[in-house]
Amino acid sequence: MARLRRPRRMSTIVAAHGGSGRREQPRSESQPQFAASRESMNFDADPQDEAFRTEVRRFIAALSPEIVRGKPLGYTHSRPEREAWIRALNAQGWLVPHWSRAWGGRDWTAMRRHILHDETCAAGCPEVDRIATDLVGPIIQAFGSAAQQRRYLPGILSGTEFWCQGFSEPQAGSDLSLVGTVARREGERYIVSGRKLWTTQAHLADLMFALVRVKIGNELQQGLSFLLVDMRAGGISTRPVLTLDGGHHVNEVLLEEVSVPRENLIGAEGQGWTYVRALLESERSSAAGIPHTKRDLRRLEEFASSELRHGRTMMDDPVFRAKLEQLRDELHALEFLHLRVLSATERGPRAEALGCVLKFRGAQAYQRVSELMLETLGERSIEYVPDSQRSADEAGVAAAYLFRRSATIAAGTTEIQKNMIAALALEL
Ligand SMILES: Cc1cc2nc3c(=O)[nH]c(=O)nc-3n(C[C@H](O)[C@H](O)[C@H](O)COP(=O)(O)OP(=O)(O)OC[C@H]3O[C@@H](n4cnc5c(N)ncnc54)[C@H](O)[C@@H]3O)c2cc1C
Repeated sequence: MARLRRPRRMSTIVAAHGGSGRREQPRSESQPQFAASRESMNFDADPQDEAFRTEVRRFIAALSPEIVRGKPLGYTHSRPEREAWIRALNAQGWLVPHWSRAWGGRDWTAMRRHILHDETCAAGCPEVDRIATDLVGPIIQAFGSAAQQRRYLPGILSGTEFWCQGFSEPQAGSDLSLVGTVARREGERYIVSGRKLWTTQAHLADLMFALVRVKIGNELQQGLSFLLVDMRAGGISTRPVLTLDGGHHVNEVLLEEVSVPRENLIGAEGQGWTYVRALLESERSSAAGIPHTKRDLRRLEEFASSELRHGRTMMDDPVFRAKLEQLRDELHALEFLHLRVLSATERGPRAEALGCVLKFRGAQAYQRVSELMLETLGERSIEYVPDSQRSADEAGVAAAYLFRRSATIAAGTTEIQKNMIAALALEL
């Protein structure tokens, strides 16, 4: 008989991958806003927003096809393609509108940021390095020294330095309080040893921001520290971890006696979790993948309008159509939720809980759209069926379906999001 696992105590989600689980005070003015802006919640179509949408479309259309070329479903842009896109966006002043003005921020509304992401995604533009622009960049601005800002932010803006996030380990994923990577303090350096797992794009990254535990003499600190590590340093080896689709997206990173200057520590030793909490909120919002699901819904509608089953298109099948309409309605609601989360005027338990709802429902919608694509194409979506007539998009359907099983795990699992909603919003 299967044994039921005793639920972990609430204290274990205090350091959960995806949030704090603690009651928070509203954010003070001096704290970073990350992806949030201060605006009232009015999502009616505004002529200025529509004009901006047109401007974005013109901008994309004017770029050379080397930078923007719609790629088939499941295509992973190469690093040079992404670098060219980052440079083009930065030259236009649109790479980091949510950053502080001193570093290129634009004080945009949530709607503007949403429109830019929506349009670039719909056009099949490469992804910028969101790990850099949305996660570590704001942390360095808010908590890094002036020297750290001068050293690291220009590389993000020019696209010359890519980042990876070294939080998860074999024994620490949902519960990051179990991080075991040790940074032994020796004079002006830390000697870092440990093993990071599931590290997205570590094989492409120049730098990693890592959660570590500082050791001074024989004493291991309880609190986590936030350390910037050069991936080219001696003692670092990266091994691919292939995902269900057979793709190389994530890695195992071994750190063996890696020497890191003490000046690479962000803020104070043992205070890493304070800096990470806002980062995880931003990560959740990004991981919901709403613009990607919208783009794929359009592809699904194209497939369903041409794919014949029992003498009629899938779109004319009322049962299939009902499923599609349900997904479209869900996505519409999620888009508003996304805007609501992005434009939250105050932080606090309820706002954080909304981000958790967005993350897990968004990830489910992202999976659902590829399930319906699979259903539409049937056996034609299975890779090993030899069929020279298949379009490149169709060929990517099975791989996308398989990879997206991870969407409800990455950036905090669905179970963890539900635990957090229970604690933060329902006070259970
Ligand atoms: C594609 C992908 C990319 C990723 N990229 C990165 C990255 O770049 N950097 C990084 O640091 N990490 C990354 N991760 C790791 C990711 O954050 C973790 O996989 C995730 O937080 C879950 O941790 P875990 O894998 O250790 O699972 P575990 O924490 O071991 O969980 C195993 C199962 O137990 C459940 N569970 C755990 N605790 C509880 C609880 N308290 N209550 C109820 N259920 C619970 C979980 O929901 C899950 O179903 C990535 C993961 C994936 C799949």
